[in-house]
Amino acid sequence: MPMARISNALKIVNFTRLCASLRDQEKIGLFFPYLKISILLILIYLPEEIFAQEKRYEFEKGLMGSPFRLVFYTTSDTLAQRAALLAFGRIEALNEVLSDYRDGSEINRLSAQSGSGKWVPVSDDLYRAISLSKDVSQRTSGAFDITIGPVVQLWRRALRRNVFPSPDVVAESRQAVGYRYMKLRPQGQKVKLTQPGMRLDVGGIGKGYAADEAVAVLKKLGINAVLVDAGGDLTLAEPPPGKPGWEVEITSGLPADSTTTLLLSNVGIATSGATYRYLEHEGVRYSHIVNPQTGVGLRYHVRTTVIAPNGTLADALATAFSVAGIEDSKRIVENFPNVKVWLLEMNNGSVKSWNTLK
Ligand code: AMP
Ligand code: MG
Repeated sequence: MPMARISNALKIVNFTRLCASLRDQEKIGLFFPYLKISILLILIYLPEEIFAQEKRYEFEKGLMGSPFRLVFYTTSDTLAQRAALLAFGRIEALNEVLSDYRDGSEINRLSAQSGSGKWVPVSDDLYRAISLSKDVSQRTSGAFDITIGPVVQLWRRALRRNVFPSPDVVAESRQAVGYRYMKLRPQGQKVKLTQPGMRLDVGGIGKGYAADEAVAVLKKLGINAVLVDAGGDLTLAEPPPGKPGWEVEITSGLPADSTTTLLLSNVGIATSGATYRYLEHEGVRYSHIVNPQTGVGLRYHVRTTVIAPNGTLADALATAFSVAGIEDSKRIVENFPNVKVWLLEMNNGSVKSWNTLK
């Protein structure tokens, strides 16, 4: 459920720059009359190139099980189309690597080697996603842990069959969970999963990582005013032309809706929590976000929005702070410079809010 809305930005016309360049051309024309004529001809025959203004483009595609939206500014329709194709292509390629839903994905092939004692060489993307995740695990005291896979699988099965797993079954699948069992070797980019039955799940960081990579593709093409919306998790680059930032509206999601509007650029914004994906048992809702310490989905209605220097970190921390809760998150956030949080917890009908966004 997307939490952030982006206002439509206005197109601006950079008249000053245009007028200045015409004045320069006239000065040259005084000395070189033929040149002046040829410049005029170019002005007549290539008006689009000379007067090109940055236009707003928007593209959307379903990827990684979420609608991905690209919003950016550029001068050429052709470039915009090509840029969108390349950015979506990059996300599709990442999905082949990172999806735990695909049998043949690189991450699943790595998980299949857990307990074999082998150091497995992996791609740049997989190595980066795993090492960033491990770093977040270390700095969140394990609240964020991509080795949560076996437990997530257990809860997915429980949801499909609508059968609540027994504590024994939960304890068994927790045996193979623990980021410390995930060893990394930078030389040759190798990973070893030391416990049998380990299974990596980058569902808590993958969308932010993909959004950051889509931004990187567009920037390489010279497109810098960019917003990528990965199913509600945003990565923002430079603001729309002439604007101080992207206008982002963040809502609490509570019935008495409280809203914060922020002007942002060059950050990631992610939201975790309140979702349609939950398991209900004896009147209690269990979230798809799991506490690695208990192996059980979060029980309290929690909603967390994080603003971080990039989308990858924002995504991972929104998941981590949801697990940690308000009190522990106040301590954990000290480990992350330039990170802001809005965390809402609901327990027995009363709401607790901690907001450092403003
Ligand atoms: P998000 O919506 O970004 O909070 O991510 C939720 C997804 O992250 C879940 O569907 C799981 O795939 C995965 N996940 C669940 N619990 C954790 C956890 N404690 N640490 C890391 N990933 C998790
Ligand atoms: Mg996340």
